[in-house]
Amino acid sequence: MGKILDGKAFANLRAEKLKKQVEKLKAQGIEPYFCVINIGDNSASKVYVRTKKRRAESVGIIQKIYQLPKTESEEDVLALIDKLNADPKVHGIMVQLPAPEHINVNRVLERISPEKDVDGLTPSNIGRLWQENHFVEPATADGIMALLDHYGVDLEGKNAVIIGRSNIVGKPLAALMLEKNATVSILHLATKNLSEYTKMADILVSAAGQANLVTKDMVKDGAIVIDVGINHVNGHLVGDVAFDEVEPKASMITPVPGGVGPLTVEFLMEQVIKLTRRANGIRE
Ligand code: NAD
Repeated sequence: MGKILDGKAFANLRAEKLKKQVEKLKAQGIEPYFCVINIGDNSASKVYVRTKKRRAESVGIIQKIYQLPKTESEEDVLALIDKLNADPKVHGIMVQLPAPEHINVNRVLERISPEKDVDGLTPSNIGRLWQENHFVEPATADGIMALLDHYGVDLEGKNAVIIGRSNIVGKPLAALMLEKNATVSILHLATKNLSEYTKMADILVSAAGQANLVTKDMVKDGAIVIDVGINHVNGHLVGDVAFDEVEPKASMITPVPGGVGPLTVEFLMEQVIKLTRRANGIRE
């Protein structure tokens, strides 16, 4: 039977530590300040933005939301980013995605100062990630790495197989796992015969966004299974993994909900604090 990796409890533990770090910063007169730009009225984005604000406030981070109309021009979004880049009291900036179609997302992300890039999505921070000299990491990938470390999983020499190659999850997680000396495979929609790869996985991560994608016949006995997927099926929130049948085969497994989800928002706040400390020349 698989040991449940409790992402929610771990996120709460980290939040308590983070609160103490924030208190220390405040005692030095430093107020961590995080700006989120949301363009348009995507209902899921609005929920995510509100969740982040609640979490930020609960750990003592000031969070300002710039809610822009869906007709906002790209020039105006770029001008806002320029203004926030230049404002010394702002430590972190992120643009909530997806953005409306007329906005060139790459151009917008590139405009964020790498020193304030909470999502780690600017080209220079992506480059630093692959060069192993990063100071900020995409939150979901960072959260998964910390969860594995918390449960004593050593990646050295392990086969790690990731389903999904997005810029926000699959690719950064591959870079971080490679840095820990895992042998990493990234699978995607054009991969032929997924199970040929997944059966070799000591650590299997699914970040595809497809319910019941990972079934028991695809998982080797004793594998560690991390389910990043968020899917709504008949009014229920489920991951990508057929949990009931995979859990007995796995040595460790994350549930959905309560696994990776709570880590993402917690580790986003951790990036804000990393950037705040760095801006103020505070090292570990
Ligand atoms: P995305 O849509 O940008 O990318 C999905 C990736 O999965 C693509 O690379 C695609 O090729 C691959 N894929 C899709 N179906 C596949 C299949 N049948 N076989 C093989 N590969 C397949 O998605 P994303 O933004 O990386 O998110 C992926 C999932 O993770 C979504 O369900 C999303 O909601 C969820 N997510 C969860 C968290 C969290 O905190 N738990 C954070 C980010 C994303």
